[in-house]
Amino acid sequence: MLMKMFKKPETVNVSIKGKQLSCPVCGNSKFTRRRSQLNTRLATFFNLDWANRVATCYICTDCSHVSWFLGKQ
Ligand SMILES: [Zn+2]
Repeated sequence: MLMKMFKKPETVNVSIKGKQLSCPVCGNSKFTRRRSQLNTRLATFFNLDWANRVATCYICTDCSHVSWFLGKQ
């Protein structure tokens, strides 16, 4: 029996505003999701204090292009 040495990131299909997200580079529709806390100074720099400083990024499983969204998706 194989031991799970690491957790494989979950692959997700993403829809934004009811539309399926596809990679703008390669057209792939499978992504892995990461959630990031934005650095406060960076958020201030980009005038994002109105946002809750949480960003969600989706990484294309094919070409690894990253799509960023502000806030929790
Ligand atoms: Zn891609």
